Amino acid sequence: MSNLSKKIIAGMKVFIRRFTGKQAPLEINIHITDKCNLKCTYCYSNFYKRHNDDISLHDIKRIVDSFYEMGVIEVSLIGGEPFLHPQFPEIVDYVKSKGLFCSAVTNGYFVSKLIDTAKKLDMICVSIDGLNEVNDLTRGNGSFNKAIEALEIMQKNNINRSIRATLQKHNLQYIEDMMDLAVKYGAILNFGLLFPQSSESGEVKVVSNETPPDELYKNALSRIIELKKRYPSRFFNSITNFTNALNWPVSYTKFFLFEDELKNITNFKAVPCYGGRTFATIDTDGRIYPCTNLIGYYDAPNVLEMDVKEAWNKIKDHKCSACFYLSSVEKNLVSNFNIDAMLNLLKVKRIK
Ligand code: SF4
Repeated sequence: MSNLSKKIIAGMKVFIRRFTGKQAPLEINIHITDKCNLKCTYCYSNFYKRHNDDISLHDIKRIVDSFYEMGVIEVSLIGGEPFLHPQFPEIVDYVKSKGLFCSAVTNGYFVSKLIDTAKKLDMICVSIDGLNEVNDLTRGNGSFNKAIEALEIMQKNNINRSIRATLQKHNLQYIEDMMDLAVKYGAILNFGLLFPQSSESGEVKVVSNETPPDELYKNALSRIIELKKRYPSRFFNSITNFTNALNWPVSYTKFFLFEDELKNITNFKAVPCYGGRTFATIDTDGRIYPCTNLIGYYDAPNVLEMDVKEAWNKIKDHKCSACFYLSSVEKNLVSNFNIDAMLNLLKVKRIK
């Protein structure tokens, strides 16, 4: 089936679910491993400090089977570094054998080693935060060159690719450089804003030291909106999404607003949240969250200890109501059948 046909079917599923009120998962993110070869200073879970076992191939198959039965469209394999899961090729093969869209987020180090598996993925997202030393400052020496090497290999092999750039203090002035990089390597540009980060002990969430002051974040988002207008198909996220982040009504150190907090804010129209209703994230310990941002903030049921569908059904009724996380908000917009986001979805995945 062609990518366009898959997108049309996905769009129809969103439409039917939106207007029949039927809630079913569209996308599931699975943190398949904590292992990572890098130690990025802003890593939201400090994965390299955690020591959960990898989710086994057996459990991943069980999870994928359950979500497949519920009608999921996309499985996104994340980590840590997902290519470091010892059975990564078998996992990709299994997801693809179900006819599902399978994507992965990687630092790029192992793409050449596992090129046959990489070719089977529908989208590979490589993390790059800036050119050369701007990237290496937070992601580690040599990581820029390895990410570029991965992009070159993907370009040569015609693999759909995107660049994930996390906006932070020291890279905001290089947004236009990232645009040039995306054009050069035929990649979609996928900006992200910083998540709260696990403390040293891993128990408390803190604001990352890399978080810029609010006015600089807003300036960067305004520039991104202008770039998006000039290069509409080059960015993963829609203008509506960037505008939601730009209009965030409180400090960017306040990562999300719960129902009772949102009630008191009158100058902001929140994008309705579908976390836990059309998408979810499973952490390496098996706990399932409405979205990645709520890891550590939510008393999550565990898919390794109970039936997967039963766990999924437990996460719908959370009180988190608004956020500025671009990747989550885009899913919320699509789930809400926002026209700008739907058209954007059709545009972006065509780049080769
Ligand atoms: S509002 Fe945002 S952070 Fe909160 S659950 Fe929804 S998607 Fe996640």
